[in-house]
Amino acid sequence: MQATTQLIHSIPIDPLTGAISVPIYQTSTFVQEAPGVNKGYDYARTGNPTRSVLEDLIAQLEGGQTGAAFGSGLAAIDAVVKLLQSGDEIVAVDDIYGGAFRLFEQVYRKFGIRVKYVDTSDTRALFDALTPKTRLIWIETPTNPTLKISDIGAISKIARAHHCLLCVDNTFASPALQKPLALGADLVVHSGTKYLGGHSDLIAGLVVARDRELGEKIKFLQNASGAILSPFDSWLLIRGIETLHLRVRQHGASAQAVAEFLQGHPAVDKVYYPGLTAHPGHEIASKQAKGFGGIVSFTLKEDSEEAALAFVTSTGLFRLAESLGGIKSLVSHPATMTHKTIPPERRRAAGVADSLIRLSTGLEDAEDLIGDLRQALDRVRGGRRLSPTHGTVAQ
Ligand SMILES: *Cc1c(COP(=O)(O)O)cnc(C)c1O
Repeated sequence: MQATTQLIHSIPIDPLTGAISVPIYQTSTFVQEAPGVNKGYDYARTGNPTRSVLEDLIAQLEGGQTGAAFGSGLAAIDAVVKLLQSGDEIVAVDDIYGGAFRLFEQVYRKFGIRVKYVDTSDTRALFDALTPKTRLIWIETPTNPTLKISDIGAISKIARAHHCLLCVDNTFASPALQKPLALGADLVVHSGTKYLGGHSDLIAGLVVARDRELGEKIKFLQNASGAILSPFDSWLLIRGIETLHLRVRQHGASAQAVAEFLQGHPAVDKVYYPGLTAHPGHEIASKQAKGFGGIVSFTLKEDSEEAALAFVTSTGLFRLAESLGGIKSLVSHPATMTHKTIPPERRRAAGVADSLIRLSTGLEDAEDLIGDLRQALDRVRGGRRLSPTHGTVAQ
């Protein structure tokens, strides 16, 4: 059976009523026949039937034993870090999601957990960064916003030999394209807010563990710390996941068309998209993923903040907003938005140039999207200038 068919039919029909949509169990507690004698649920922080359907669904999609749903992607990341102890070290991808960087540096550092950042697309550099204290390797592939690719299989072998865990933040690829657990990772995390939800209407996080023992530790932390996903948002996320494969296929096809268009445009300098054969990660991405995703980044020939701001305020279909993975196309300017708090020199060294622009291609017709980009690029070339706005807050 194909993945889509299997996915759609693994979502259970309600055994009580036959409801074809998963019921939302909006309850805090469950009545017990006698202390400890219940129907599998006692208190809704510990377990809720709507959330359970979602947790089983994501575990199945990622090919793991246990799934756990959280109130945000960051709460999911937080649960994984809590597996560690004071004195342990993490080796993480250098262009890590900004919120994960903030969590590591401004929360966990003071509890004695240290993080080393390396370019994990260079497997050798990753290997050299490990110390006897390294307990966790943390990667994203593709990364944000320059879409660097790391070799999940090669890194999982290193992790195993070093007796440390490998966690992959699979938000950008989604399980429709990439299954890190099958490539040897121990844990997968997601911001369900992005492609899994897919409609820009919720904040959610997920963790999937390859083996049950590790999964039980995550479930313990989910209950002990309590950052669970609500029944309604669990339902909404199930509803989003039902169309994941279809959406991701279209996001990817449009992104490929957009990347090829940008590559040929005279106002564009570099285009970052793993689906382009010139992308340094193209070969590994082709090997470990079924597609290249819906995110495209690029820089302008005129590498200035001013030119980039003129572009991002000139698009019509691409709406200027943080986030990605929804049905509506989004555009963002990392230097003044998500990466604003990083000192300019460090930011530029990490490949986030002043004119770098990130696109999340939505589900509009690709021709219309390209038309929108063409007119915005023409305006930049025509010298339209807006004064930079500095009101955006990093997430
Ligand atoms: C958005 C995002 C997160 C954080 O998820 P939230 O749901 O916003 O808390 C983590 N990792 C990646 C790669 C993301 O894009």
